[in-house]
Amino acid sequence: MRRSEAKLFTRREPTGHESRAVELCFRAGLIRQFGSGLYGFTLTGERLRQALIDRIENEMREVGAQRIRLPQLNYRGIWDESGRWESFGDEMFTLENRDGQQMCLAPSHEEGVVHLFEGLVRSYEDLPILCYQVGPKHRDDHARLGLLRTKEFTMKDAYSLHASEESLAESYQAIKDAYIRLFERLGIEFVISDADNSVMGGSASEEFVAPVETGTVKLLSCTEPDCRFGDTADSPRDDLTEKSPCPACGGELRGGQGIEIAHIFKLGTRYAESMGLSVDMADGSQQNVLMGSYGIGIERLLHTIVAQHADDDGCRWPGEGSDSIAPYTLSIVPLEYDDELAAVADALYEECDKAETLLFDDPEKNIGERFAESDLLGIPYKLVIGNTFRETGELELETRDGETEYIRRSEIQQLFD
Ligand SMILES: [Zn+2]
Repeated sequence: MRRSEAKLFTRREPTGHESRAVELCFRAGLIRQFGSGLYGFTLTGERLRQALIDRIENEMREVGAQRIRLPQLNYRGIWDESGRWESFGDEMFTLENRDGQQMCLAPSHEEGVVHLFEGLVRSYEDLPILCYQVGPKHRDDHARLGLLRTKEFTMKDAYSLHASEESLAESYQAIKDAYIRLFERLGIEFVISDADNSVMGGSASEEFVAPVETGTVKLLSCTEPDCRFGDTADSPRDDLTEKSPCPACGGELRGGQGIEIAHIFKLGTRYAESMGLSVDMADGSQQNVLMGSYGIGIERLLHTIVAQHADDDGCRWPGEGSDSIAPYTLSIVPLEYDDELAAVADALYEECDKAETLLFDDPEKNIGERFAESDLLGIPYKLVIGNTFRETGELELETRDGETEYIRRSEIQQLFD
């Protein structure tokens, strides 16, 4: 993309937002606020949000999950059946349609999944089912810290349906492993904590929590690099302190704050029983369907990556190659965009993956401004066409972390592999 067409809307001046990560998202021109707890994503911001969704969907396909789509607007009926119209309480956005019927904007979709399969799934042979969707959730939460708690957010919510505990345990473990792979590939530091099921109900759940100084939950996390033990204030256990040995490996625990980035639940027959979803078993008996539910909050994941990896110059997007969600892979930065250097920059741009490249083609900017903007956006590589090129014909490749190497023209293509 040419910079003149990309419409970046970055800004140098601080916005004064209380959260450094959100401040950077504003300055990088990724998001716009629409009042308390509501955000829109700009052209650049949506590239990032969609890149995260793509990575998550890849992992879901790896474990054999298939995509579904459930309506955001629900009639009250299914929520009365599950009993959650009352238990969600003020957190649920409710409304009346023109015929006076009560409706809500779904804060969660367990009811929707049960309704989708009720009457379709009849036999144990129709199970297991593993499905997911990516879409908005609405919760009338007290808005907090930018993207961390909002009234509308994007969730990847997956669900599994089973005829036995063993089958549920298998899918639960498969999704847990998929989440571990995903967060490792995205370069996120995280631990896993047992958690309370609260309004979701069911038998067991675990939270994936990323240690972040400005996070919203209290967190004890193991300091051993290969141990993922964590313990939040939501955990059912209350016997641990910073002085306790890690229950998983005996290592040291560290106190701090964290951000919940994912939550996985074994729901058992909690929803099938109350809403009437059962299957015929081989011996002729009836079995209530067991369920699991697995969620990842997309915007808070983006916030977490910025919070864990940004430096004084701006955003950084970890992960190698295609695992990185950087909005562009490469900036082409000519010392000046005029005459000879502009012609060289244009010719190099033609050889690049244009969707992944940002060509600084604005003659008004100086090289310092171009560097600053590229770094603010966290673009991993800058191809500098300057004095070295004039003298020797070599291209200077600088990483986001300031390491420089000289490359030949024929090596550019490798950056996009
Ligand atoms: Zn440990």
